[in-house]
Amino acid sequence: MSSVDSMGFADSRGLSRPSERSDFIRSLVRQEIADGTFAKRVQTRFPPEPNGYLHIGHAKSICLNFDLAAEFGGICNLRLDDTNPETERAHFAAAIEEDIAWLGYESHSGTLYASDYFGQLYEWAEQLINAGLAYVDDQDAATISKNRGSFSEPGISSPFRDRSVAENLTLFRQMAAGDFAAGERVLRARIDMAHENMLMRDPVLYRIRHYDHHRTGTKWCVYPTYDWAHGQSDAIEGVTNSICTLEFDAHRPLYDWFLDHLDLPGDRPRQTEFARLNITHTVLSKRLLMQLVDEGHVEGWDDPRMPTLRGLRRRGFPPSAIKDFCRHVGVARVDGTVEVELLESFVRRELNRTSLRRMAVLNPLPLLIENYPSGQVEMREAVNNPEDPFAGTRQVPFDGELFIERDDFMLEPPSKFYRLAPGREVRLRSGYFVTCTGVDTAADGTIARVRCSYDPDTGSGQAPDGRRPKATLHWVSAKHAIDGQVVLYERLFADSHPGADGADPMDSFNPASVQHLENAKFEAAMADIAPGQVVQFERLGYFAHDPITTNFFHRTVGLRDEWARIQKRRG
Ligand code: ATP
Ligand code: MG
Repeated sequence: MSSVDSMGFADSRGLSRPSERSDFIRSLVRQEIADGTFAKRVQTRFPPEPNGYLHIGHAKSICLNFDLAAEFGGICNLRLDDTNPETERAHFAAAIEEDIAWLGYESHSGTLYASDYFGQLYEWAEQLINAGLAYVDDQDAATISKNRGSFSEPGISSPFRDRSVAENLTLFRQMAAGDFAAGERVLRARIDMAHENMLMRDPVLYRIRHYDHHRTGTKWCVYPTYDWAHGQSDAIEGVTNSICTLEFDAHRPLYDWFLDHLDLPGDRPRQTEFARLNITHTVLSKRLLMQLVDEGHVEGWDDPRMPTLRGLRRRGFPPSAIKDFCRHVGVARVDGTVEVELLESFVRRELNRTSLRRMAVLNPLPLLIENYPSGQVEMREAVNNPEDPFAGTRQVPFDGELFIERDDFMLEPPSKFYRLAPGREVRLRSGYFVTCTGVDTAADGTIARVRCSYDPDTGSGQAPDGRRPKATLHWVSAKHAIDGQVVLYERLFADSHPGADGADPMDSFNPASVQHLENAKFEAAMADIAPGQVVQFERLGYFAHDPITTNFFHRTVGLRDEWARIQKRRG
């Protein structure tokens, strides 16, 4: 496989070697190393909040952070940004660790936690108070927000802005000791209420929260905001490059302001923003994904239609294909949306190389070969994977009573239909040529069975007289078939850009995105397919064995390369 495919790659992996990769973040790091910044060290982190499961957008950030560190001989850690006990849960934290391991990455120093820095962050807050750079505000959240002003108008200073250092210290200690109710007071930085960047207008550093934190229990009743925790956590760990998505661009002056006003243990980390990943026909926001689960539109976070890593895993997407896709998409500074067909083409390409071929009939129609010796069974040899010379062959039982796909037969075929029809001959893959001699009709008028004759001289796949049927069908021996179920999936959202132009994304939810087929028939060799393994059902697509339910398969992707068609249409 060395041809250039529809993604423009010259080899089957599609990856340029890491050291050759180039984008604005890698250029920046190269420059830093050349300049001796950070003493030539590179350290990154992936900082999820444990309030949901990871999705493929997170995978892009994971690949970027871990790959970057590896390429430059640096390190990358997983840091759980567990600063809000209201929504964070230990089971989300465990799932995040598991999903990162599934992608094949390992946190350099084990899992790190922002909550481990609560003590240091608290000390730094007192340091700001002592420097006259932070104050306790008694106004409620709504007032604070209202008085922040707007782009055109400066904010209104809090009446508590000029409290003495001593009073601020006393009140902040009381906040931390649990003397006040949630919402009664906050600690704010004292920066500039007229700053052109609204985030610099005395941002909140600490809120009172009387919650049980999954790691620190009831020790704390003040919790740091994202802005107050993030840069300082980076600094404590020795992160050099703090890479985040574009919505944090406006937070960068604040990130730098905090670090500039504290006694840091080392260099000041540098924040760099890149565009988040968006994919057509889905949503990549934890809030919306949670809504899909909570309102019962999907079966759970691991529903195979979900763009979560758990959903994609259950669907059969190989982690290597997800990583190749993320690397191919690369990092940019401008937001955009990537076609889901591109992701699927990476999945298909990987599965084409690695998956075993099997025969399965999803909508079975019985086929009787009238001239096949009754009671006889022969074993037919079939290739396991034509892309993999080491995958070998298997024996498929063939006899006079088979199932074929209902779609592969028509009583009155239109002109473009080349498959089985009365009087017509087709090839059965790894079997013989058969010719339809008649049908048995059920009481309701539907076709109950197709009758055929077979040509015993076509067992090699060729006829001695050289005649060639126009179609080759897959089939399964009725007596040897394994019964199973298959689920087909369509797009989760009908619109390519759900929620565009202010619409409610849920308006384009596609209720027909799942179709259960309960009478599937699998060839006998399917008994060897492990839970989670993906196979190619001949002519139908790639299907993943459910990790829990035996003989239950999820369609991963179809066989047709939709991405190539999109590319062609665009010229
Ligand atoms: P939400 O979905 O509510 O916006 P979040 O995705 O930002 O939340 P975090 O747990 O804070 O949730 O994300 C962890 C990291 O993953 C952050 O650094 C964030 O920038 C990055 N990230 C999140 N979504 C994407 C995305 N779609 N593309 C690239 N990176 C992302
Ligand atoms: Mg976030």
